[in-house]
Amino acid sequence: MEEEKTEEPVKKTLLKGLTPKELKDFFVAAGEKKFRGEQLFEWIYGHMAQSFDEMTTLPTYLRKKLNNYCELNSLKLVSTQTSHRSGTRKYLFSTYDNQLIESVIIPEPKRITLCISTQVGCPLDCQFCATGLMGYKRNLSPAEIIDQFLMASKEFGKSKISNIVYMGMGEPLLNYTNTLKSLQIFAEEKTRDISLKRITVSTAGIAPKIIELADSGLKVKLAFSLHSMFEETRSKIMPINKKYSLAENLEAIKYYAKQTDNRITFEYVMLKDFNDRSDDLNALIKLCKSIPCKINVIPFNSIAHMNPTGFARELESSQKFVVDEFVKTLRDNNITVTIRYTQGDDIAAACGQLANKTISESLSKEKTR
Ligand code: SAH
Repeated sequence: MEEEKTEEPVKKTLLKGLTPKELKDFFVAAGEKKFRGEQLFEWIYGHMAQSFDEMTTLPTYLRKKLNNYCELNSLKLVSTQTSHRSGTRKYLFSTYDNQLIESVIIPEPKRITLCISTQVGCPLDCQFCATGLMGYKRNLSPAEIIDQFLMASKEFGKSKISNIVYMGMGEPLLNYTNTLKSLQIFAEEKTRDISLKRITVSTAGIAPKIIELADSGLKVKLAFSLHSMFEETRSKIMPINKKYSLAENLEAIKYYAKQTDNRITFEYVMLKDFNDRSDDLNALIKLCKSIPCKINVIPFNSIAHMNPTGFARELESSQKFVVDEFVKTLRDNNITVTIRYTQGDDIAAACGQLANKTISESLSKEKTR
């Protein structure tokens, strides 16, 4: 008996994550007019359409064709959770291959910030970070990075997201190509609501990529997870420091500040008896005199929900009076300091807490296979 032939499913083209030029080229290649690409871009970013059927300025035959051969969304919204204390809202999304990622909206009086992920998990293994403890699966595509913004914006509705921070799960500069592409799309006309000036990329320090980003001409804001001014101490909590040293990163950062004319943000998670002593403070003051910057002091958010072991288990937040004194001395030295007060820790949505049980369980299952 002849074997039944099964047809290969048609791989659909994903349209989010394409630049306007790529969209136009796509339509021309499909035998359509170039301006359809512009219309699509407007529907995706101007109206935040989540289906081709909403795109009423496209003729019916074209919407049908798009439904057959193209995909619009790269993520599915699984659930949302809101912190009653702060209004912080956490989004859990699933991807085409059933990976789970999280994004967080942080509403503040003067701005609404969206924190997005760039990887499923994170390969960096920073000792103080829940995402690091859960392991690493894969990079997110440009569409998956952007879709966090599009889907959360649409769902949040009420008022517009004004700022985006690449501070969710993962290390953006280890997913450099896709991160850059997402930034290029945010830089486009129709996405101007989110100007690059209000986008911050946060890195643990991948020096050569900091230089590439500086040379990209995109001029986004750069935040550097500093956490200690001393190589050995930094390596203890951030293993990546053994590959790209603090010294190498600081050189790259100086270059970034010069090329982009931007002030750098140094993030500093305050850890008791670890990086909150007077020699830490003095070294930090010296650094601030050499680079246009501000310091973002972050109280350490507990990662106890991940049951850390070894050194990670010993980490504790600095006491409040130590943080206050540290901040005061920095300010007395004319250094701009912001304190990122914990928001959303009641729903494990605060800095470094992104990694919920479902995600880490699914990753550890993979590991043991
Ligand atoms: N990989 C990037 C972006 C993700 S982490 C980076 O390292 O910058 C975003 C910020 O949250 C970083 O400054 C990180 O150091 C900080 N962070 C991680 N875990 C934290 C925790 N438990 N408490 C407070 N901040 C944390």
